[in-house]
Amino acid sequence: MIDPCSLDTNPLLSLQEALSRIKAALRPVAGFEKVTLKSALGRVLAQPVYSSVNIPHERNASMDGYALAAGDITPNQPFSLHLTGTSWAGRPFQGQLQPSQCIRIFTGAVLPERADTVVMQEHIRADGQTIHFPAPTRPYQNVREIGEELQQGACLISSPKKLAAADLGLLASAGVYEITVKRRLNIAFFSTGDELASIGQALESGKIYDSNRYILNGLLADPGYNMADKGVIADDRDKLEESLIEAAKNYDVIITTGGASVGEADFVKDVLASCGQINFWKIAMKPGKPLAFGKIGDCYFFGLPGNPVAVIATFDQLVKPALKQLAGEPFTKPLRLTAICTSSLKKAPGRQEFQRGMLAQNDAGELLVASSGKQGSHLLGSISRANCYIILPADCTGIEAGEQVIVEPFSLFV
Ligand code: AMP
Ligand code: MG
Repeated sequence: MIDPCSLDTNPLLSLQEALSRIKAALRPVAGFEKVTLKSALGRVLAQPVYSSVNIPHERNASMDGYALAAGDITPNQPFSLHLTGTSWAGRPFQGQLQPSQCIRIFTGAVLPERADTVVMQEHIRADGQTIHFPAPTRPYQNVREIGEELQQGACLISSPKKLAAADLGLLASAGVYEITVKRRLNIAFFSTGDELASIGQALESGKIYDSNRYILNGLLADPGYNMADKGVIADDRDKLEESLIEAAKNYDVIITTGGASVGEADFVKDVLASCGQINFWKIAMKPGKPLAFGKIGDCYFFGLPGNPVAVIATFDQLVKPALKQLAGEPFTKPLRLTAICTSSLKKAPGRQEFQRGMLAQNDAGELLVASSGKQGSHLLGSISRANCYIILPADCTGIEAGEQVIVEPFSLFV
């Protein structure tokens, strides 16, 4: 089997080369803004945050139990202390802990002065106000020391970092209210094609509903992006040029779908060449060969293929890492794993393929992946059912059931 797309007169750029070219061309956006913690999820931290307090800022108990001073422990023998009060979380013991005394204490409650040890309640025997401790009782156990997590003045979170829920909790634990994040990326996207109808319209002969703008709406849903759905552009060279020049004035990135191939109605490449610069066009990737990358003025341009599965695959493999770089996020490679393929897969040599698969773990803990069905780049069902890409190298000529393959789980974040 020969991949007809590999018979191009110009050798196609490998995905790796395309990624390197994109990386070299992009300049992360400058510009910061201050946001409160409540609106910081998913934003990119622009400056490191230092703690103005010790965390914890007071010595407290990590268990429900009894607090005492290590000096009152009789080494290697049972001993008894007199119960003199209680320290609750949020309501510290108000008295003084005298020698031979202990107090009842709950998780998170502050230890009184002198106290430095908490014994779990399961390990003692209470007899009225007398508490019997077993031998041996280890000093200094079950206590969270001042500054154990972080000393005052130390770095709480370094930058850049895309803030997750745990980061917000960490910042809140230091009482941080406001932080400085990178400004949002402004991204415009268009569909192109005379055949595209909007949902709600009747489907006349020759028309199809526009899936790609809904796909991009989902793929670009990120707190770090302002996205603008700019609708459909007809297959008209002048209208396309006009729309792109106008959008390039106001956005950091333009993404189009369709019209990037070599058909009579495919104008994207020519328009990019006339109103901007083409960096590359066409890559050795399936799905997704026709892909134009370049610049119009200061705006980066991605002309993605028209077929919806190719839109998703090229977005995941090329556009997403580019947007992360532009947004100033630290670079992270996608997680790739080895799995046993339970389906046989057809493949012609020539292009690196991103087939769609269903990955699961069997009872023995082995990763198994099955094809999600027919692999045409117009068949959205096969990617809707899938949860991973099965990545086949360019020179691969097919896979027999039982062979190992590389898989890349889809991003867990929608
Ligand atoms: P093109 O690259 O414009 O030749 O488009 C390739 C294929 O993708 C054609 O079958 C188009 O009808 C289809 N296509 C293009 N844009 C969309 C879209 N927005 N939604 C669904 N299919 C599309
Ligand atoms: Mg078209």
